[in-house]
Amino acid sequence: MSEKSIERTPSAHYNPLLIKNLLGNPIRQFPTREIVYGDCTRQTYRDLGERIGRLASGLAGLGVKRGDTVAVMDWDSHRYLECFFAVPMMGAVLHTVNIRLSPEQILHTINHAEDDVILVNTEFLPILEAIRDRIEPVKKLVLLNDSGQTPATTLDIGAEYETLLASGDPGHKFPDFSEDARATTFYTTGTTGLPKGVYFSHRQLVLHTLGALSAVTGTGQGRFNRDDVYMPITPMFHVHAWGVPYVATLLGVKQVYPGRYAPEQLLTLIQRENVTFSHCVPTILQMLLASPKVEETDLSRWKVIIGGAALPRTLAKQARDRGVDIFAGYGMSETCPLLTLAHLKPHMLDWDEERQLDIRCKTGLPLPLVELRIVDEDMNDLPHDGKTAGEVVARSPWLTQGYLKDPQSSEQLWRGGYLHTGDIGAIDEEGYLKITDRLKDVIKTGGEWISSLELEDLILKHPAVAEAAVIGVPDPTWGERPLALVVPRPARQVDETAIRDWLKDFADRGIVSKWGIPDRILFVDSIPKTSVGKLNKKAMREQYAQAPNR
Ligand code: AMP
Repeated sequence: MSEKSIERTPSAHYNPLLIKNLLGNPIRQFPTREIVYGDCTRQTYRDLGERIGRLASGLAGLGVKRGDTVAVMDWDSHRYLECFFAVPMMGAVLHTVNIRLSPEQILHTINHAEDDVILVNTEFLPILEAIRDRIEPVKKLVLLNDSGQTPATTLDIGAEYETLLASGDPGHKFPDFSEDARATTFYTTGTTGLPKGVYFSHRQLVLHTLGALSAVTGTGQGRFNRDDVYMPITPMFHVHAWGVPYVATLLGVKQVYPGRYAPEQLLTLIQRENVTFSHCVPTILQMLLASPKVEETDLSRWKVIIGGAALPRTLAKQARDRGVDIFAGYGMSETCPLLTLAHLKPHMLDWDEERQLDIRCKTGLPLPLVELRIVDEDMNDLPHDGKTAGEVVARSPWLTQGYLKDPQSSEQLWRGGYLHTGDIGAIDEEGYLKITDRLKDVIKTGGEWISSLELEDLILKHPAVAEAAVIGVPDPTWGERPLALVVPRPARQVDETAIRDWLKDFADRGIVSKWGIPDRILFVDSIPKTSVGKLNKKAMREQYAQAPNR
């Protein structure tokens, strides 16, 4: 017995799910809506459509064909948005290069992805100059230049972006092809080993866009609608800026691309362009709220998804005090990325602020088409009681189907037919997931698991603490013990006893276990971060594991 296939009359058009399908309606329906690039340019959706055609025909003129890979090294810009569409729509693969990796890692990603053409902002020419002799084979370079001046470089520049577009065809025709064609690739910023490549097809990106759209649009808290103004503050090189530029374009909203992230400039853009919807990692929001300019910026219409790391309650509270509609989102490079969003359900809108904050800081409800489980080591389901924690494993149509040219890690990622996130979390009765740790960051002391995220959250609540990180360090008696790194706020006095007493108070109230209180609390000037601004726990463990325990 097998299912019955649908019958297709010979003239019926089979419509594969292709990225080009996201573009037509917004351009027709909102042709004059703006796409702003920092202080540099203002374009419209009509321009966007034409420039995508021009870019594709220009790239084809340079020899780019189906199956080739086109890399981009740029800050967040209207050009990047054009590449998000034009490159995959040609049947080529867009490689978004993480320009915050070291030159050696960038070299690895360029060679590993087998880039054919690199579109490079003048600011990143020195990186390519440093590794040019080891890039194989030699690539064609297209220059992205905001300065208007010809840069002094010894690299062989094949074309300049605007010149390429000027000679391109705005009516360029994009072919149909398989929805399973690879559309994008980029490299995880994992803190161990060489970066790993993940990849997504047209079908996956279209379904991710529709799934995200159906979760974020409509009525309710934190929604993203046609009258919003969108500005990403997670880089476009990192998981397609969480895929939101595709959602924003499909909605036809005004879009603002901020270039390089500088807190003052970001706040200026929010104010000047009336930005109402963004997403960023906690560290960036912390920088914005600490900037003196925040005093003269109205953030009361700003909705922000915080992801990439847990949303600390103290930060959420600070943002709420400024009127920001803040809530968490969760996902990873391997998952395109969106898996959950921490929207309040309708019946929670009447709750008091503190209870609502609990929800906003959870990791969220799974998006439509996302199946999340929390499991033990044998893949048994654990109860959804908000307390029992296990590994989060996932299925959905938009998860990377493996790591590029790495069958062993791919099978490891997908063991048992579910994508293993490596995150530890609990799901409550309302269906909200709360991540409590990374599998490899979890602290196991005397056989008990301690959540480093929870401890960080509590330490951050101390008024004299600016930043905090907690790691597990080897201990001969207990296996591991927690160690806290603390960056004090400027001009604030705080010492180990103050932090320990602070945590003891939470332990007395049963909020954290007594054995969770770190034996050692070190005061430091800064905490190591990864290329995308997350706490770099591997670096911390390497640096502090050997330090003697008291
Ligand atoms: P990346 O692949 O660099 O985007 O990192 C993904 C990882 O970031 C996840 O596996 C989580 O460990 C962490 N992460 C992302 N969003 C959240 C969140 N809302 N809460 C806690 N951890 C998060």
